[in-house]
Amino acid sequence: MPQTLRLILGDQLNPRHSWFRTVDPSAAYVMMEVLPETGYVTHHVQKAAGFFAAMRHFAAQMQAQGHRFIYFRLDDPENRQSFEDNIRSILKSLKFERFEYQLPDEYRLDRQLSIFADSLGIPIAVQDTEHFLTARDEVREFFKQRKTYVMEAFYRHVRQKYGILMENGEPRGGRWNFDAENRESLPPGAAAPAALEFRHDVSDIVEMLARMQVKTIGRIDPANFPWPLSREEALAALDHFLAHHLPHFGRYQDAMAEQHPFLFHSRLSFAMNTKMLAPLEIVEKTLAYWEDNPDSADLAQVEGFVRQVIGWREYLRGIYWAKMPEYAQLNYFNHQNKLPQFYWTGDTRMNCLKQVITQSLDKAYAHHIQRLMVAGNFALLAGVHPDAVDEWYLGIYIDAIQWVEITNTRGMSQFADGGIAATKPYVSSANYIHKMSDYCVSCPYDFSKRHGENACPFNSLFWDFHETHRPLLENNPRIGMMYRTLDKMGKEEREKIRRQAALYKQQIDKL
Ligand code: FAD
Ligand code: SF4
Repeated sequence: MPQTLRLILGDQLNPRHSWFRTVDPSAAYVMMEVLPETGYVTHHVQKAAGFFAAMRHFAAQMQAQGHRFIYFRLDDPENRQSFEDNIRSILKSLKFERFEYQLPDEYRLDRQLSIFADSLGIPIAVQDTEHFLTARDEVREFFKQRKTYVMEAFYRHVRQKYGILMENGEPRGGRWNFDAENRESLPPGAAAPAALEFRHDVSDIVEMLARMQVKTIGRIDPANFPWPLSREEALAALDHFLAHHLPHFGRYQDAMAEQHPFLFHSRLSFAMNTKMLAPLEIVEKTLAYWEDNPDSADLAQVEGFVRQVIGWREYLRGIYWAKMPEYAQLNYFNHQNKLPQFYWTGDTRMNCLKQVITQSLDKAYAHHIQRLMVAGNFALLAGVHPDAVDEWYLGIYIDAIQWVEITNTRGMSQFADGGIAATKPYVSSANYIHKMSDYCVSCPYDFSKRHGENACPFNSLFWDFHETHRPLLENNPRIGMMYRTLDKMGKEEREKIRRQAALYKQQIDKL
């Protein structure tokens, strides 16, 4: 019987993959921790430890079920620290005659493995990951005849294709989208239910990372690692979310609160991006839970969650495969500035940024609006080069894998793609942050001032951004109103804003 070697990457931890349906005596699986994967950006220590811990858990679990596994730890003496070298060595020494791998989700690895597999001179096969609801090229095909990409159109396509929240061909409740009802701030004194946090001991991995001189950022309590490391734990996290957080998920999706970093969010992105959980099963379990407990949540909450999982996530992945590798070079505004130093420390007087960055360093997590409307918003207003912004986002969050990081960062957040992922730049003055959070209340800056002493930097930078990029933005129908407001301010006021913004940009690391 020809012997087959099958590669499993660190984000392919799907025990329900058809490869594992039966124990195949002719197949062996290889997984490896290699230095280049720890060093292409500086990862958060929870991210590096989390991936390795989840990989080790997966290999042990599959092995216990009878599958043959070869596992290289980062510090194994035989580890050649490269996918290619490790695989070549196993193929040679253990006499495999066939090589198989699952489609990588990262463009870089996809190219690398495809070139490598072709060079082996033995039969090879590439298998789907059996994770996503849509094919890699489905967004490209769907929008082939249209001028622009629009998430809502693709989301409706996925809903119809899978009959999700559909009744007799129509969207349940008569509307596709309840986004307009999902924009409330958390009332003062209100609290969010506790998140389900695990308590894994990953001290050995953290110690190994230090010994192998892997540079990391952020903080970790190695004896109490909180993220799910197996499919079973990920399912428990989903159940916890459905019972406690779904009831208010949509309503407070955009809210931010100093004492409640997770609010009503699911914290499932790490489990999903490592493929412990699949998006379709998440949606099916959500709908089944709702059917059994119809009074637990209303349609706006459920639809809001479904839209993130099968709408935004699938849509952005499709953009990634439609636009890479060029996407990684796009810089629509030609921004060239450095990322302010406080992104690595949280050491800034701007309370919103201090909260979001400190939380990110502590927890390797921030929710969507914190990423978009605080950290991303400021980087865009400050004219930071999208490469630097990408590098930060790809390192700091536990769920950061390029296909979903870059489309959110360079696309949604920085508008560096000129409007492929989003229809307008997501920038705001302090007004929005004040409305959606309690950050401004205890901030030394004054959210209501555009210039002068202690004026909130977001305000002058916001208007200065619009002034600077007028030629690129003025004709965007979603932004036109901003220019009318700006023009009404008068020359003197605009000059004061310009000077204030220039001063703040000059002193950016000290803000
Ligand atoms: P919830 O709010 O509970 O949402 C449920 C799920 O929906 C998420 O787990 C996620 O899988 C999916 N989802 C929600 N919004 C998005 C979105 N915009 N794109 C893709 N999936 C989405 N998400 C990542 O998974 N990895 C990243 O590296 C990443 N980088 C981001 C960078 C920026 C600048 C921004 C604005 C967003 C980024 N996101 C990223 C999207 C989103 O912020 C995270 O998916 C979400 O915060 C994860 O937390 P959660 O699981 O509690 O999500
Ligand atoms: Fe952020 Fe400005 Fe509010 Fe301070 S006043 S928290 S800097 S938006």
